Amino acid sequence: MSHDPRLTPLIAALPATVPFVGIETLERQTGVTIKARIGANESGFGPSPRAIEAMSRTAAEAWKYPDAECFHLRHELAQHHGVGAENIVIGAGIDGLLGTLVRLTVAPGYKVVTSKGAYPTFSYHVAGSGGELVTVPYRDDHEDPEGLIAQMHAVRPKLVYISNPDNPMGSWHDASAIQRMIEAIPEGTLLVLDEAYFECADPSLFPPLDTSDKRVIRMRTFSKAYGLAGARIGYAIGDAEMIAQFSKIRDHFGVSIIGQEGARAALADQDWLHKVRAQIAGSRDRIAEIAAENGLSPLPSQTNFVAIDLGRDGDFTRAMVRELHMARIFVRMPGVAPLDRCLRVSCGTEADMDLFAQELPGALQRAQT
Ligand SMILES: *Cc1c(COP(=O)(O)O)cnc(C)c1O
Repeated sequence: MSHDPRLTPLIAALPATVPFVGIETLERQTGVTIKARIGANESGFGPSPRAIEAMSRTAAEAWKYPDAECFHLRHELAQHHGVGAENIVIGAGIDGLLGTLVRLTVAPGYKVVTSKGAYPTFSYHVAGSGGELVTVPYRDDHEDPEGLIAQMHAVRPKLVYISNPDNPMGSWHDASAIQRMIEAIPEGTLLVLDEAYFECADPSLFPPLDTSDKRVIRMRTFSKAYGLAGARIGYAIGDAEMIAQFSKIRDHFGVSIIGQEGARAALADQDWLHKVRAQIAGSRDRIAEIAAENGLSPLPSQTNFVAIDLGRDGDFTRAMVRELHMARIFVRMPGVAPLDRCLRVSCGTEADMDLFAQELPGALQRAQT
């Protein structure tokens, strides 16, 4: 087959892939409208009412281009975390920032280390830059810091990625294991520490922020506990020199004026965040309870979702995802074995949990046959 000569050879040779097929796409494919949206680790508890108010107010100003420096949000985040504003770059979610970071560091043939089955959007960006992925298997449903360290010494990659706590398993390492990883980073390698679930987890998982440390860049988001996934706001924290590189290629007007104002108001409403943290903890317990009632094993989690071990193979889990979808419940699952024996269920409202409890036994029965 001849390639379209207008494309770069890299893109022409790349298969079309979608890291996460969207809920709306699946609804259109099946004709089934989802009632319990507990598959994308969004926050069914919603954003702070103050964030909603700020975004509504800002809607009338949407004729303006946004502040390309995200000045206020960046300074308020800097103050919140006790770092400098020059240590933070805002982007269209962690996903957008990962794309920019990979463009900054990975050219065709460059090596990148991640875990087999880890967050797929990172790998997607690496493939789009022509990078060569070297993967390390999970160990007991955890990403394996020692294995990642061994690989990064073996292949000397540009980037090594870990998410703590982890998606899709919900597992975690404490700060000392992460700090050991940072200390082991060789010259020429950058650790991408994805902390998307920072607000859901115990503080003991996170080494103190040290923006003088050039070996690591940390990613946070308003998409999870803050409940603003649709506003597309994430940020990276790192040493000022690396952060400044983003502005060479980033989409300068890519963070909307509505998103910026929503995130500022959400950050200012820490009471709401604390309430949501409690709701997430309650919902994690409820998911674990429902799993146990059906003879299934919930995995421990420090995120806003729970991986439920169905004790079978990926085909069975896929059948369960389908059956639950037909029962108007949206859930997801890990992409590779042996992680794909698990169903990934996001925390949600009591109504969401009630529907899940009601439909799970029937789905299990139908998936067996
Ligand atoms: C949800 C998630 C993201 C995506 O966050 P956005 O800010 O919405 O792009 C990134 N990394 C991990 C591990 C996630 O679970």
